[in-house]
Amino acid sequence: MQLYDLHTHTNMSDARFPIEDLVEVEREQGHVLGVSDHLFCCGIYTLNDVKNYIEVLRQYPVYRGAEVNMEHRFNLPDALDDDIDYFIASVHSMPDGRGGFVPLNQYFSNRSGYSGEYQKNYSPDMSRYYLAYIIQMMEKTFSTQRVEILGHATVLPACDELYGTKFLTQWEDAVIDLCKRYGIALEISGLWRAPHVDMLRRAHEAGLKFSMGSDCHDRLQIGNLLYVEQMIETLGLEQEDFFVPRRQLSFE
Ligand SMILES: [Zn+2]
Ligand SMILES: [Zn+2]
Repeated sequence: MQLYDLHTHTNMSDARFPIEDLVEVEREQGHVLGVSDHLFCCGIYTLNDVKNYIEVLRQYPVYRGAEVNMEHRFNLPDALDDDIDYFIASVHSMPDGRGGFVPLNQYFSNRSGYSGEYQKNYSPDMSRYYLAYIIQMMEKTFSTQRVEILGHATVLPACDELYGTKFLTQWEDAVIDLCKRYGIALEISGLWRAPHVDMLRRAHEAGLKFSMGSDCHDRLQIGNLLYVEQMIETLGLEQEDFFVPRRQLSFE
């Protein structure tokens, strides 16, 4: 099976290494590479920044991806949009219940092992409400914006808190239904080792496509698709079960 690492970052957004290193390590690992830096945050803020980002990616034999916050509008003008091979839409904050959002940076850095400190900056009593809200947001995003991949769908404190509950199983099924309805690939994440195997099994039974991604921000995380390989083995996934961008990869 050809492994694709379609969820990667560089120091053009919030990773700690330049694109040269990413390309080099992934090549050694034998992966097909897609770069998916964060758009509209972390260094790439304006349409001009997006344009420059795309120009840099053109110099390498990589897919030109982008990770975007589902909480925001991220549509690009057609000329730029055509140059992006795929969008990964992810949730990076929790609704605050008053129409705003609370960023989850601390939760993410704690969960990926960068900091031991994580203070909840939202109320855990609201977990069900948050997840219901996020489903609505996913549907709105999928139905109005261009998305190819749903990034780290279950990496949310509310999912941890409700783990093992019937509510969460139903929520996961709702996510699977939405991906199915809008033709969006569900990401299997190397960094987050998520979603868990039972959800992936149900997604596979529903006929969803998956996407592979290391979500690397640190040199040691580059191309870490161990969890993806475990899931391929456990669930008997095949190449055709995975999303592949349409463009033929080559130097331009
Ligand atoms: Zn993300
Ligand atoms: Zn990411």
